[in-house]
Amino acid sequence: MSKRKIITEPDPVLRKKSNTLERVDDELRKLMDDMLETMYEAPGIGLAAVQVGILKRLIVIDISKDDKKKNPLFIINPKIIYKSKKTSTFEEGCLSLPGHFAEIERPAECHLEYLDYNGKQKKLKAEGLLSTCIQHEVDHLDGILFIDYLSKLKKDMIIKKLIKQKKEITKIVI
Ligand code: ZN
Repeated sequence: MSKRKIITEPDPVLRKKSNTLERVDDELRKLMDDMLETMYEAPGIGLAAVQVGILKRLIVIDISKDDKKKNPLFIINPKIIYKSKKTSTFEEGCLSLPGHFAEIERPAECHLEYLDYNGKQKKLKAEGLLSTCIQHEVDHLDGILFIDYLSKLKKDMIIKKLIKQKKEITKIVI
């Protein structure tokens, strides 16, 4: 396994739509392993392939809080087939928007169809944190970031700060 570089906003790749995968093979599993390692090290609870610059409909998630009992979820070609009318609000962050958080309201429950690590068709009923996490990650596959749900003013402010952050990071690297 090897760690990948996480792409941060603003970067045009984060706004692209990811492509459906034709098959699940060892090469893809290697990418999923790398993504999981990258996510754990960040640390984060979800990562979409586009965030490491790969435009494939692929997500890794682990919302388990216990470090010893990891519970990774590999999701390929996710399709949300149901969203509840009832909503819930979490303060969301994103590995591609380092240091920024905002309260986002989303459907409290969602049902998902996807392929797993072995390419098997699966169904999942998610609620609470997992439901929010899945919706956040599926948004990434369509080029949507959580800041898109905020007012233009708030969104622009965050992007401005991120541009400044990027410049500062570059200075340190040099
Ligand atoms: Zn994110």
